[in-house]
Amino acid sequence: MTKPLWAPWRLEYIQTADEQDVCLFCNAVESHDDEAALVVLRAAHSVVLVNKFPYASGHLMVAPRRHVGDFAELRDDEALEVHRLAAQGIGALRQMYEPQGYNLGWNLGRVAGAGVVDHVHLHVVPRWNGDTNFMPVLADVKVIPEHLLETRRRLAEAWPP
Ligand SMILES: [Zn+2]
Repeated sequence: MTKPLWAPWRLEYIQTADEQDVCLFCNAVESHDDEAALVVLRAAHSVVLVNKFPYASGHLMVAPRRHVGDFAELRDDEALEVHRLAAQGIGALRQMYEPQGYNLGWNLGRVAGAGVVDHVHLHVVPRWNGDTNFMPVLADVKVIPEHLLETRRRLAEAWPP
């Protein structure tokens, strides 16, 4: 059995994400500062971000540019591009970290762990054997072995053509 990753800082995020005035993903789409918005890549219909509250180093999110909260309302061009970008993200992560596996997932609804419920997004989380052991013992201490800006820069550079 694979143990679920335990990332208590995610709870803080989930509890506060709804209190933000601006949608995280729309903000990234509209931002002109890739570093500030942690944007790795912008494509025609979607955008790739580094997760500010990662489960692991290299935790990416791919979101449609359009503010859409209903998974069923994704257009074909959006759904296709989001998945193609996830596949490219795996390519970049493989180059950077050589993970032993990946979790890809859509968290739909608060109860399913979504921090932002009204703008759907696909998580790409690299996994290693024993990575649950990296997780913090103290509830308010994050142990992420790489700075987010560094992750963003390296991913952008490693992104396959
Ligand atoms: Zn949005």
